[in-house]
Amino acid sequence: MRVALPVPLRRLFDYLAPENTLSHTLQAGVRLRVPFGRQELIGVLVECSEHSEFPLEKLKRAHEILDDEPPLTPVLFELAQWAAQYYQYPLGEVLHTLLPHTLRAGKSTELASDLQWRAVPCAENSLRTGSKLFSLYQWLLQESATREAITEAGYSSAQIKTLCDRGLLESFIPTPTPFDTQNLLAEPHLALNEEQRVAVAGVSMGKFSATLLEGVTGSGKTEVYLQLIEKVLTRSEQALVLVPEIGLTPQTVARFRRRFRCPVVVLHSALAAGERYAAWQRARRGEVGIVIGTRSALFTPLARTGIIIVDEEHDNSFKQQDGFRYSARDLTVLRAQRENIPVVLGSATPSLETLHNAMHNRYQHWRLTQRAGNAKPPTIEVIDTNRIALTEGISAPLLQAMRNELAAGNQVLVFLNRRGYAPALLCADCRWQASCPHCSAKLTVHKKTQQLRCHHCDYYEKLPRDCPQCESTRLDAIGIGTQRSEHFFNEQFAEYPVIRIDRDSMSRKKSLHDALEKIHQGNPSLLIGTQMLAKGHHFPHVTLVVILDIDSGLFSADFRGAEKMGQLLEQVAGRAGRAEKPGRVLIQSRYAEHPLLRTLLKEGYQQLARQLLGERQAAALPPYTHLALLRAEHTDPHHAQQLLKNWLPALQAACELGVQLAGPWPALMEKRASFYRFDIQIKSSNRSELQKTLAKFCAFAEQQKLPKGLRWSLDVDPAS
Ligand code: ADP
Ligand code: ZN
Ligand code: ZN
Repeated sequence: MRVALPVPLRRLFDYLAPENTLSHTLQAGVRLRVPFGRQELIGVLVECSEHSEFPLEKLKRAHEILDDEPPLTPVLFELAQWAAQYYQYPLGEVLHTLLPHTLRAGKSTELASDLQWRAVPCAENSLRTGSKLFSLYQWLLQESATREAITEAGYSSAQIKTLCDRGLLESFIPTPTPFDTQNLLAEPHLALNEEQRVAVAGVSMGKFSATLLEGVTGSGKTEVYLQLIEKVLTRSEQALVLVPEIGLTPQTVARFRRRFRCPVVVLHSALAAGERYAAWQRARRGEVGIVIGTRSALFTPLARTGIIIVDEEHDNSFKQQDGFRYSARDLTVLRAQRENIPVVLGSATPSLETLHNAMHNRYQHWRLTQRAGNAKPPTIEVIDTNRIALTEGISAPLLQAMRNELAAGNQVLVFLNRRGYAPALLCADCRWQASCPHCSAKLTVHKKTQQLRCHHCDYYEKLPRDCPQCESTRLDAIGIGTQRSEHFFNEQFAEYPVIRIDRDSMSRKKSLHDALEKIHQGNPSLLIGTQMLAKGHHFPHVTLVVILDIDSGLFSADFRGAEKMGQLLEQVAGRAGRAEKPGRVLIQSRYAEHPLLRTLLKEGYQQLARQLLGERQAAALPPYTHLALLRAEHTDPHHAQQLLKNWLPALQAACELGVQLAGPWPALMEKRASFYRFDIQIKSSNRSELQKTLAKFCAFAEQQKLPKGLRWSLDVDPAS
């Protein structure tokens, strides 16, 4: 038997079947427990081969087969194999990522809460009439019950066991009940506008298609999803909806639950293992109609998959950034292909990759250009701050505009993508700067907790009173973070509430809920926040959106910097004027004439994206070419760099025709959480040549003995 194990080796392991088990009766995909060195591991059977390159007498026996049926569907099992190869990650680890925690740990696939007990009819049961055992037995002859129901009725688990031991009781799993396809709608659906109608009609059920649904914020994409899902549910198929981490809000989920009567389950990383597993099982058995989740929900097995929808497909959180570095968005398309169902990628600001696919007719492309209902698009203006003084980062005209808006009874949203009080602390006398001892990064000033914090690792220290270098007391907080703006607005607009939304103020689950509640009451107030505020939420009372700092995005060293900036700006702007009231967006910039900004303002994200695609093509960057990043990390920069230098010849030798290498060079952020990072970029215009190169190279790299503390990784289609 060939078995995939969760170990960092890109190969399978050979075992003999357990005693008394015929290996050819086993299905690929079942879990088994095998000895591995001194430990025992949970592996997945990949192939039942009778042959092995090792002598049979040397092979160990698997200890136990854990499943009758594979827990993953055949499609997911194949997807795992494909992804392991594509992302150059060990299959055993990939399969472990796909399995819920409960199954990874080797537990039974049966859910204890689903188990029911029923009595075994037996004339001579020797139970004393009138005893508790007798009455329990009589009851369970009439109907079956769960353990919970039995104990609630006053019986004990010991009594269940006694009857089981005597052969009078047996447990079973009831056949799952699929959701009801009659009376699906709990509320009537909206009458679609023409563009929405075309989009809904354009996605056929029961066969593969990939569709880009490009629609400005508030244009009614979600309504399109809901009506597509309705079609799917009517066919008694299930829908899988992926949303960005930040977008999985109670409001989003509530919208799906309000519309449909069928069960809707939510899967995200904060769920307890048990809850997650129960939801996973219900999805797999076809009991739920809709699964909503973040990245990893892509791997949820469904009994009858009908459609996959990826909302805000451009979002970074769909790409896993460590370990098994997969793109959920890309794998979604593959899964849909294998399941022969439609996939819909929705966004107001599609990624250049997806746009590229749509422009080359690989994807269908539907546009929603009108805001649904009566909402009008916002007007966008730039305030050139080159020659005007700023107070706490705010220009006088901006302050005035905010004041007017609040006085008119409206809400103002201020976007600043930097939490904390100030992004730097500087000594006015000796120019000392507070920096993280573990990262190449400055420390952020946090006033409330009187701390300096690193936003890239867990490091923090007490806010110093005087300079550790020259003992001067003239320490200046430089730059503006959300806390500082909040403080300033509280002074300036004392008569209005200021609501700050970022990771620090919203660390408790309930605080976000409370804040949103307050905002939705609609009283004039000022909202200030990071991208937590900018994505997904509906703020019908906001009429003015202010973007304080756009400039860092204009000069990013990352090749995706401009794309990300454009997306964020469009998303933030989309918060304004969503209801009856028209909206306005004001952007402060010292580079008002910057060509990217000009294009974005004059012609919108669509045009910017097309311009950026042209630039990518000229520079031979994705999506016109394919990238992978080989990274080495060590606490000693010399070791990290040296490893890549040593490996370079082997990598060069592995290169297929047309594959180009660049580096090694230090990563954009050279040091992070005590590790120095160095990269080699591997690039090819031909994906399969790149794949072959990477596979050959990984086979080499795996065999190498690494200096202690050194780690390496390969990122295929890196996000930055
Ligand atoms: P998006 O997902 O593109 O941001 P939504 O689907 O959330 O847009 O729609 C924005 C608002 O417009 C919502 O309040 C929604 O109820 C409303 N809406 C959507 N489609 C229609 C329609 N066809 N007729 C009237 N209102 C609509
Ligand atoms: Zn100093
Ligand atoms: Zn740090």
